[in-house]
Parts: sequence; C-alpha cells; structure tokens
Amino acid sequence: MTALNSKGWALAKRPVGMPKSDDFQMIDGEAAAPANGEIQVQNSWMSVDPYMRGRMYDRESYVPPFQIGELLQGGAVGRVTASAHPDFSEGDLVTSMAGWREAWTAKPEAVGATKMPSTELPDSALLGVAGMPGLTAYAGLLRVAALKEGDTVFVSGAAGAVGSTVAQIAKIKNCKVIGSAGGKEKCDLLKELGVDEVIDYKAHDTYESLLGALQKAAPKGIDVYFDNVGGDHLEAAIECARPMARFAVCGMISQYNATEPVPGPRNMIQIVGKQLSIRGFIVSTHADMQPDFMADMAKWIKSGQMQFEETVMEGIESAPEAFLGLFQGRNRGKMLVKLA
Ligand code: NDP
Repeated sequence: MTALNSKGWALAKRPVGMPKSDDFQMIDGEAAAPANGEIQVQNSWMSVDPYMRGRMYDRESYVPPFQIGELLQGGAVGRVTASAHPDFSEGDLVTSMAGWREAWTAKPEAVGATKMPSTELPDSALLGVAGMPGLTAYAGLLRVAALKEGDTVFVSGAAGAVGSTVAQIAKIKNCKVIGSAGGKEKCDLLKELGVDEVIDYKAHDTYESLLGALQKAAPKGIDVYFDNVGGDHLEAAIECARPMARFAVCGMISQYNATEPVPGPRNMIQIVGKQLSIRGFIVSTHADMQPDFMADMAKWIKSGQMQFEETVMEGIESAPEAFLGLFQGRNRGKMLVKLA
C-alpha cells in the first residue's frame, strides 16, 4: 500500500461579499497508506454547493465553519484504492464529505463515507439528482410543502440542481409548474423539462416587473412556493399566494454574499390573512426519506420522467472557479468538478 499525491483547497482568508479566487489556497498533500480501520480513496468527482458559502463565515450554524488553512469539505465520490477496514475493499465506490481534494485516507465514519451499490446511474449523479440536492428537492416538495396533485407550484432557481428536480417532481405529480431562472438558455432548458410557465428573472429587474410576470404566469395564484433564492422572489410569491399556500424555504442564494442585513419581504402581513405556512428546512433532518427517494428517483430516471443536467469543470485546480460560478449562474443543473 502506497501513499497517493493529493492536491486540495483551503480558505486563505474569509471572503467578504462575493468570494474571489484569492480567498482560496491550494495545498499539496498526500493520502497516506491506510492504518488499521482506515481506507484510502481516490476521488473521481467533487461537488460545490451554495451552502458552503455559509461555512466560510466565522459564525455558528447548523454546520461548523471552515477553518482558515484547513482543507475544505464537501460531497465527493471516489473509489477505494487501499483498505485496512473490514467492510471496504479495493475498488468499492464510496460517497463522502471529503471533497475539495484529489485523494484521502481516513476512518470512513470520520468523513461520512458510505459504500454505494452499483447502479445504472453515472457516479456523478450521486452528488446531484440521486444525492443531496435530489433529496432536498424530494423532501422539500413532498414533505415540507406537502405537495398535492393539481397544485400550482412556483420554484425559483429552477434551472439549478435542486430547482430542476423540484420542477420535474411537481410535473410527475400532475401540478402546474412555474419556474424562474436567469437568462434565455436556462428558460429554454426549463421548457424542455416540461415547465408550464417560465420567468427569466433577469429580464425583470424590478420587483414590480417580477411580480407582474408571476401574476401573468399564475393568474389564479400559487399553492406552493419552493424558495431557492429569497428577496424579491419571496415577496412576489407571498403576494401571489392563495389562501393556505405552503412555502418550503430551502435557500436564499441572493443573500449569501450580502455584507449588510437584508430587509425582509414588505408584505409579511399577508401571512396572517392568507394563513400561509412558511417553513424552512435542512435536508439532513429528512434523511429518513432516503430509501423512498432512491426508489422513486431510480424509477423516474429509468422511465425518462426525470432528466438531469450537469455542468462539469475539469481538475482540482478548477474547484474555486466552479464554486464561484454558482453565484454567477454559470451552471445548468448540478455544478461538479471532475477529478480523475
Ligand atoms: P444551483 O444549482 O441552483 O446553483 C445556484 C444557482 O443560483 C445559480 O446557477 C443561479 O442561477 C442562482 N443564483 C445565483 N445567485 C443568484 C441571485 N443573486 N439571485 C437569484 N438566483 C441566483 O444550486 P443548488 O441547486 O445546489 O441550490 C439551490 C438552493 O438550495 C440554494 O439556495 C442552496 O443553498 C439551497 N439548498 C438548501 C438545502 C437545504 O438543506 N435547505 C440543501 C441544498 C441546497 P440563475 O442563473 O438562474 O440565477
């Protein structure tokens, strides 16, 4: 058993506002030969996700902050190259939270490593439609928003990893779907995915204009809003909500780089009169849905009801650029870095 060279990324300093490439530093390291109870893994794919921005602040949250100079963490898929653990063998496919690096050696439980069965899906899908973002869409829509057949569903960030999955699950459940995304190319993708009404929010650069577009798309109002973006989208959704509408608040990416507190929606009084249910959620709270999610997703992908797009950047060197790309709208579907 030999050590593997492994380049990886750490924070050089905490980003202020929109992260920049010099907020990151590359670390030349190695993945040692595994000691008793450890496995050595060569990562083939790593994920960049918007929530990682929250871990770059030095503050308490549902996951601890990244430390300056220490390797970043995130979802990854790889193959075992050497094992000193009874449950893992060379060649096994594993998912872990040991991303942002080419290879690693650790006890599986220390990095959340799980051995994955072989499926017909590409390995990269384990970080997207069949992984954390997919489960986020599934749990958020079906449990948190308690989706019902025939609902009118509005989803923002609809051309991204979570949003595109939300839109398609809602179509599978016979709902009318309104999706918003930035730019014509992304809106064309949404139409290809069967979204009924698309809103290019970048063509509606005032709140009034965005609201007008949503009112036109949903003249009778919306029953469900799946929020990935926050800000004007959330305010417009409250304005267009039908009585008893349900909101699954998944993320607010428009605010992740804010340097000042962001004002809330001005129309929150409507939450009372319309009796809205507005519920934030974190995907890990709904881990019990994983078996149902995997069974449904495998079925939907096989039948062609669920499509998935990936935007792939090549090589560990491109990881910060891939991450920054999330805030520049550079991805269609899941943003990934291919490592080997
Ligand atoms: P995406 O694949 O959707 O990528 C991010 C997209 O966000 C970009 O492509 C861009 O699309 C859009 N975006 C970026 N900046 C802005 C902005 N200022 N205003 C509006 N849109 C913007 O990411 P994910 O699917 O991985 O995540 C989507 C959301 O879900 C995020 O808010 C994320 O934090 C959240 N999330 C929450 C989880 C939970 O447990 N609650 C778990 C996983 C994700 P465009 O070009 O259309 O602007």
